[in-house]
Amino acid sequence: MKVRTRFAPSPTGYLHVGGLRTALYNYLFAKQHKGQFILRIEDTDQNRLVENAIQNLQKTLNFCSLEFDEYPDRGDFGPYIQSQRLNIYKKYYLHLIEHSFAYPCFFNEKNPDLLFPELDIKKALKKMKEQPFVVKLCMDKDNELMIKDGIRGNIKFDLNLIDDPIIIKSDGFPTYHFANVIDDHLMNITHVIRGEEWISSLPIHITLYKVLKWSIPKFYHLPLLLNEDKSKLSKRQGDVAVEDFLSKGYLKDALVNFVALLGWHPSNDDEIFSLKDLENVFEINRVNKAGAIFDIKKLNWMNSLYIRNSSEKYLLVHIKEILKKENLLIPENFKLTKIIQYSKSRINTLYDIIDIIKIFEGVPDNYLKIDNYNYKDLFAYWIQFLKKADDVNEDMIKNLITNTAKDLNIAGKNLFIPLRYGLINVEHGPDLFSIINILGINESIKRLENGI
Ligand code: GLU
Repeated sequence: MKVRTRFAPSPTGYLHVGGLRTALYNYLFAKQHKGQFILRIEDTDQNRLVENAIQNLQKTLNFCSLEFDEYPDRGDFGPYIQSQRLNIYKKYYLHLIEHSFAYPCFFNEKNPDLLFPELDIKKALKKMKEQPFVVKLCMDKDNELMIKDGIRGNIKFDLNLIDDPIIIKSDGFPTYHFANVIDDHLMNITHVIRGEEWISSLPIHITLYKVLKWSIPKFYHLPLLLNEDKSKLSKRQGDVAVEDFLSKGYLKDALVNFVALLGWHPSNDDEIFSLKDLENVFEINRVNKAGAIFDIKKLNWMNSLYIRNSSEKYLLVHIKEILKKENLLIPENFKLTKIIQYSKSRINTLYDIIDIIKIFEGVPDNYLKIDNYNYKDLFAYWIQFLKKADDVNEDMIKNLITNTAKDLNIAGKNLFIPLRYGLINVEHGPDLFSIINILGINESIKRLENGI
């Protein structure tokens, strides 16, 4: 049996981090089994359509390197967008009505909230041609249902508690339950990996599989994502959109790595994994039942690690995008790559670089604060040295510091404070080599001359 998994989002306009985790686990599971990973768009709620939502979803998932084998526009099991499959659903709900597994309900003209079931098959089929209707599925009332979940083990449901659910709405569109089961079957989905919030729908899904005499896929319900106070992670409480994390300066590889660990961890303490690593080490059977806390501090730590290990060229591209988006022009003489070299090991997100750029932009304007230091001699000594240099390196600045101590008897904080102040207007901050390296020799000389 060829493994086939799917990610089946509703196009809400953004990709929730929980959705990224669901997609990732489905992707990893399919890859590990040399199977296929499918994108299906569940857009049966026509009131909630958002323009370009499907394109954005696909773009974000592809950007995160989760490539689908089949998706709208590609694959033999399409259409992959549910609103384009209404004819397919019709065939199956008629079949269910004809076999008394489902029945239509009609509306009361005076009170549209009242629904009248029509259980006589012949009459039902005739009336459906004349009047608006909804279709309900008959639930087996006297039964208890036991379902095995790959993460939670056996789950027992009391079918007495479940009313006959609507499977076709009055606008002719199927509800989630119906379309989801029909499509999972017709698309040969073998493993359904999805969020915990869908567990309560299982009895309806299983009932459908049973009455249609279809084999039931394996189910894995992933733990909820929680805020630190254990409340459910939702859009209302803050950022949960993958797009927002990316535009705030989180790297996609860091985000994917972080999301992989929400509810799963390997058998050892390793935490840093590329997507390729994850394909080897991920085990669906090690996914926890308990809710997974979304710890932003951990994401920041992980992101800082990924930034440190990224090439300057890669960071440059993304930082330029941020500067453009924020409409920030950096002074021409500043070398962005040098700022990146300096910042790489000091930032949590790419956005933090803006604060660092601001440090170097700080042109000194008032020297009262260093009036007590012998700063004019010190500046003159450094200017004279820098004027002879074509380039700066770390050793050169170290020697300059030693020589200043020898020649002027100025060292320690009497050297660092006035120079840092004269160069970038702060007492504490970057080391002198980094400052001069980033400002460039000419700008450094200019600032020190101003000081004198
Ligand atoms: N359309 C559902 C969602 O938005 C899919 C649930 C499932 O995977 O069955 O999450």
